[in-house]
Amino acid sequence: MKYDKLDQKMLEMKDEIFAAVKENVAIESVKGEPEENAPFGAGPKAALDNVLELGARLGFKTVNLDNKVGWIEYGDGDEMAAVLGHVDIVPLGEGWNYDPLGCEIHDGKMYGRGVLDDKGPIIGAVYGLKAIRDLGLSIDRRIRIMVGTDEENGSACVKHYVNSGEEMPAIGFTPDAEFPVIFFEKGAISGRIVKKLDKKPEVKVLSITGGTAANVVMPVCTMVVEGDFAFAESDGIKVTKEGGNTIIVSKGTSAHGSTPELGVNAGIQLFAALREQKVKLGGDLQKVVDFIMDKIGTDTEGEGLGIRYTDEETGTTSLCIGVIHCTEDECSFTIDYRYPNHTDSGEALARFEKEARGYGLRPELRQSANPLYVSKESELVRKLVSVYKEKTGDMTEPLAIGGGTYAKAFQNMVAFGPVFPGEPDVIHQPNECAEVDKLMQAFQIIAAAMYEIACK
Ligand SMILES: [Zn+2]
Repeated sequence: MKYDKLDQKMLEMKDEIFAAVKENVAIESVKGEPEENAPFGAGPKAALDNVLELGARLGFKTVNLDNKVGWIEYGDGDEMAAVLGHVDIVPLGEGWNYDPLGCEIHDGKMYGRGVLDDKGPIIGAVYGLKAIRDLGLSIDRRIRIMVGTDEENGSACVKHYVNSGEEMPAIGFTPDAEFPVIFFEKGAISGRIVKKLDKKPEVKVLSITGGTAANVVMPVCTMVVEGDFAFAESDGIKVTKEGGNTIIVSKGTSAHGSTPELGVNAGIQLFAALREQKVKLGGDLQKVVDFIMDKIGTDTEGEGLGIRYTDEETGTTSLCIGVIHCTEDECSFTIDYRYPNHTDSGEALARFEKEARGYGLRPELRQSANPLYVSKESELVRKLVSVYKEKTGDMTEPLAIGGGTYAKAFQNMVAFGPVFPGEPDVIHQPNECAEVDKLMQAFQIIAAAMYEIACK
C-alpha cells in the first residue's frame, strides 16, 4: 500500500495521540465571557494553549495570534498547505451516559465533547506532522496546522487571521465535517421579513411564536387568540382553552435548515389549517399569512417566489422559515435560502424582496454566505479523493452540500473527514463519540492527505 510507512508511524504513536486528545477534551472550551488575553473566554484559550504546547513539545514552530487563532508549522517552501481545525466546542448539554470531558472508552468507542468536532482531528493532524517529519518525507510546501477557537460561534478566529493579513494557504482542507470530500457548499441569503401590524386583525391574535433557530425547520408553532375562538383540531394541531384564551399548538418535525424537505414546518402547517378552515385573521396579519401561503406554503425550493434554481452538479435551491415571532404590534419571520452553483443570487434577492413588498411586508434580507466551489478536477479535490479511495476502497464521489463548513474561511480549501459515510450523526449531540479504530483510520487518512497536498 502506498502509505504503509506513514500508517505504521501513526499507529506506533496511537497511545500518545489518544492521550493528547484526552488532555484537550478535559478542557471545557465552550465560548465564554471575554477575559484579558482570552477574547472568547478562558476555555477556548486554554484549549488553544494546550495544542500549541503540544506542537512546541514535539519540536515545531508555533504562533499564537492574539489568543484567537494559532498555528503549528513545519517545512520550507514558498507556499503553505493548511489543515484548519478548531478546539472550541458546543455546550456539553444534558443526556450523556458518560463524562463528556472524560474520553471514556466503552465498547470500543471514545466518548467526549470534541472527540470528533474537532479536537480529535486537529490533534491527529499534529501527529501527522510529526510522522511526516520523523520519516523524513520530502515536501515542497510548508504545512501549517491552524487552530481556531471560535468556529461554533461565527468563526471570528479565522476572520481575525484573514483581516490581520496573515499568509493565505495555497491549498488546504478542514477535517471538520465528513468523508469523502465536500467540493461544493451552497451560497445563502438570510435574514427576516417584517410587518408592522398597524391595521389590527379581526381575530384577536395575541401572539404567534415558533422555532428554535433560523437554520432549523420550525418544530412547534403556537398561536394565542383572545377569547373563545372556534378552531378544529387536525393532524399535528391541538386546541386548548386557558385563562380566557384559545391556544393553538402546531407540532411539526424538525430538520436542518439546509434540508427543509426532510421536515414538517409547524408554522406552515398552522397557516395551512387556517386556510383549510377558511379562517381569515384579517388586518395586516392576514398579509403575512397570505404571503407565506401564496408564495411559499409547503414548497421548500422557492418555486412560488420564482427563485428556484437547479444545477446538475450542485443541486437545487432550498428555503426554510425557521422562526416566527408575532406580537399584537409586529410580526416577523426568518428566511434561510440556499442556492447551488450558477445561481444569480443578486437576482434571487431582488425577486424575493419584490414579492415581499408586493404584500406590504418589509424584507431585511442579505447575502450571508458565498458558495464554495472547488472543481472536482482541481489538484486539491483529486488528491483528497485519491487518498481516501486508496485508504478505504470506498468509491463514494465528492459531495455537494447545503450546509456551510469551516472551509469557507479560505480560498482553495474543502472539508475532508473525519466522519465516514453511514456513521451516525453525533456531532453537537449528547454522547458525541467515535470508534477508536475508525478515528485512528481518520487520523491516518489526514496524515496522508497532509503529505499529498504538501507535495507539488
Ligand atoms: Zn466543528
